Amino acid sequence: MLITTNGLVIRSYPSGNSDRVLHILTEDHGRLSVMVKGGSSKKAGAQDPSTQLFTYGNFELYRGKGGDLYWFRGGSVLIPFYNLTADITHMALATYLCDVADDLTPEEAAEEETSLLLKMLLNSLYVLDNGQKPATLVKSVFELRSAALMGYCPDLTGCSLCGETYPENAYFDIMNGRLICADCQTKRNRMGGVGRIEDVPGERNIVCPVSSSVLAALRYVLTAPDKKIFSFSMKDGEEERALERATETFLLNQLERDFDTLHFYRSVADLPSS
Ligand SMILES: [Zn+2]
Repeated sequence: MLITTNGLVIRSYPSGNSDRVLHILTEDHGRLSVMVKGGSSKKAGAQDPSTQLFTYGNFELYRGKGGDLYWFRGGSVLIPFYNLTADITHMALATYLCDVADDLTPEEAAEEETSLLLKMLLNSLYVLDNGQKPATLVKSVFELRSAALMGYCPDLTGCSLCGETYPENAYFDIMNGRLICADCQTKRNRMGGVGRIEDVPGERNIVCPVSSSVLAALRYVLTAPDKKIFSFSMKDGEEERALERATETFLLNQLERDFDTLHFYRSVADLPSS
């Protein structure tokens, strides 16, 4: 079977002595594992440019009868995102975002959510590549919006206990994906472990404090149309980090895992820019 599809190379790793496996997030076939014959060869000119990580391309893929992998037949580059590899922080973040997309998408499930996730990822890489927004903000937007797209959507419309819509200070209840205003949280703390009927016994209780502006940003990311999703900014670096803490904690706890690529991004993002 031969298919032609547009997609983004989100993972690439060697296989055997000279081959390479790509994970391609495609527009209409979900996420595919694709074998590139000779893809790890060091010979000059041996690599097709479309098989490089972060390349959005048009791919011709082949799968034999009963085979479980697609084979790369040919491809052309549509968007290369070249600049990403020139900046270590941007490259590290792009690798983490691709890793998250890889984790969020089941193999070969050609669902609408997967193509929406591909659009979101392309949009994020584009903004990062062009340096239009701080990397921290790109990370936050992708973490929350991709989680919501793939079924982990928190309800932040108001305090889940008293209904207050615009609390001055509030808490993002990570495990339950809901909002608790500062007043209600104080009452809960006073009650200690007794009578907190809304808590599921035995479940971890993680809350992230969110100011009114961080809450506004979280709501914006959940509701803005795709094209406008990056059209906001935070007051300062401290607020950017507060937003990032909330989105990262939410995503990692929903997925119940950690990412090595996130640790690498954190280690390079702290480097002073020279
Ligand atoms: Zn409340």
